[in-house]
Amino acid sequence: MAKPSIYLVDVDRPDTWTKYRKDMCDRCMASCCTMPLEIKLSDLVRMELVDPFEAEHEDIKQIAKRLTKAGVVDRFNNKYGLFTMARRASGDCNYLDAKTRRCTIYDKRPQTCRNHPQTVGGRPGYCAFRAKESA
Ligand code: SF4
Repeated sequence: MAKPSIYLVDVDRPDTWTKYRKDMCDRCMASCCTMPLEIKLSDLVRMELVDPFEAEHEDIKQIAKRLTKAGVVDRFNNKYGLFTMARRASGDCNYLDAKTRRCTIYDKRPQTCRNHPQTVGGRPGYCAFRAKESA
């Protein structure tokens, strides 16, 4: 059977992603903000979800327990010190504005988000670009 000539982007299939250029973010549906988000304790401090004093003196597992109970974190990987953030049922990050598709905590966003897609993600240098539908 002949292959279809148009492939739809699939966030779970990096082979469908597009080579990243800076100007793409303004026109994108923010597909990257629908992927699982793993962050560190320092990110949680910058996001003001953990107090700096707490970060320094509290057991990280206790912090993870509190944030999981509060529904902020989905799970914690103690070996790597990584928190996987909870998401909405739609898959969107809790900090993504559903209408504008913009990050609501941009200046405080985690390092993972700052590095995506250049150095982190399923295919560094590529992203799951999906253009916003024009009004
Ligand atoms: S914190 Fe902001 S940039 Fe990072 S995934 Fe969430 S909405 Fe996107």
